[in-house]
Amino acid sequence: MKWNRIEVKLGSSILMLFLVVLLPLGFVIDQIFTGFYYTKAKSEIDHLSTRYANYIHSVEDAEILRMFEQLANLTHTELYIINKNGEVVANSGIPGLPKGTSVGQETVKSLALDHSLSAEYEDPVSHQRYVVSGKAVFSNSFFEGGIFVVSSLAEIDQSIYKIRQLLLLSGIGAFFLAVGFTFIISRKLSQPLIKMEEATRKISKGELDTKVNIQSNDEIGLLASAINDLSVELKRYRDNRQEFFANISHELRTPITYLDGYANLLKEGLYQSEEEKQQYLNIIQQESQRLIQLINDLFDLAKMEEGRFDLTFEQVDVAEAAENVVSKATLKAKKKNISLYLESEENIPFIYGDGLRIEQIFLNLIENAIHYTEQGFIKVRIFMKTNDTVGIIVEDTGIGIPEEELIHIFERFHRVEKSRSRNHGGSGLGLAIVKKLVELQKGEIRVTSKVGKGTRFEILFPIIKDETS
Ligand code: ADP
Repeated sequence: MKWNRIEVKLGSSILMLFLVVLLPLGFVIDQIFTGFYYTKAKSEIDHLSTRYANYIHSVEDAEILRMFEQLANLTHTELYIINKNGEVVANSGIPGLPKGTSVGQETVKSLALDHSLSAEYEDPVSHQRYVVSGKAVFSNSFFEGGIFVVSSLAEIDQSIYKIRQLLLLSGIGAFFLAVGFTFIISRKLSQPLIKMEEATRKISKGELDTKVNIQSNDEIGLLASAINDLSVELKRYRDNRQEFFANISHELRTPITYLDGYANLLKEGLYQSEEEKQQYLNIIQQESQRLIQLINDLFDLAKMEEGRFDLTFEQVDVAEAAENVVSKATLKAKKKNISLYLESEENIPFIYGDGLRIEQIFLNLIENAIHYTEQGFIKVRIFMKTNDTVGIIVEDTGIGIPEEELIHIFERFHRVEKSRSRNHGGSGLGLAIVKKLVELQKGEIRVTSKVGKGTRFEILFPIIKDETS
């Protein structure tokens, strides 16, 4: 057994506490009983000695003395009588004080002065203990001697001994009960902690399916469910990471394969004309750009997820940002015969964000819209959603996104149609970046779509006054 275990610590603390309570309690109970018996015995003989002293007027009369001795025998009490010199003149049977012996001048003096005394007396012969109550005997106001009623403490001592035995027995019983109780309680407390310790060790070794099975609604139960949540979270993180690396390698491999293939063609001179050579070089350039774009996107996304992405916050005119992007993208849209236009309400207040990043959001959404639309139009709308929210809508009449795909659309590398996406140089990171950028600027983004009809992205930005002012 390890001595630093919680069972031992808790157990010994409870036992200590128990002893601290039990020992003084036992002492007090003992004192109460002892006091009660002794006081009772003392008051009984005190009462008796007072009554006897009232009857006796002379300690010289042998007849009276004998009568008192007999009376003592009849009432099962012991007594002795002394004269004014302290000499024992009558004795009902106390072995240590035969007639003719003396009790000492101190006793006589104190009796003559106080008229009564009470004491404890141990017989030198039988070693029996007595309580003594003495009363002075007066005759015509002259001190004649004293009568002492004596009660043996043997019976009381016996009763007290029995009570002490009982107290001790119940104390030992209670102690063992406490030991058992403490053991059960400490086990009950430490067992779940041990389980949790084992579980966390397993989790730290990578066994992320580990579950702690503790059903209780106290702090221990809460800790167990926190450990379970932690393992689920770690598992999700690990799966995510694995998937992330698999996706990255896939995304990198495709352009690199192209680069390698076309570079080889050129190196081996496997082209028919200068035009074909230029075509290959164009592909190499496009793929290199795609690679650079992918790496930049990845880098940005990683920084955003780690919270290390720096935004330059300022008051931004969303309508102006939209206009800039729309005018840049118009040519691309025209090439596909799609009309791209911007509708903006008058006097849209500025929002608090990063101007360049707001443009990046527009660019990603509009470029996607152009790419996934074959005919119709793309409309960008800026409006006041509520008094303190600016709304942005980018909608198209394109191919749309199936309902079941909508919840995954903002995940990294998620694409509805892989080949189509690749054609326009998409990495599958565009919408993930858009969502992060929107959230970093305290906005929110939603998407609705109908296959064959079109897609609509709606972004809401709160109007916040410059936080630094
Ligand atoms: P990608 O680089 O592949 O376009 P995104 O993250 O920008 O990556 O988009 C993820 C996927 O969402 C795309 O592959 C595409 O399937 C779908 N998508 C995005 N925008 C639209 C849109 N306007 N219309 C239809 N599908 C879209």
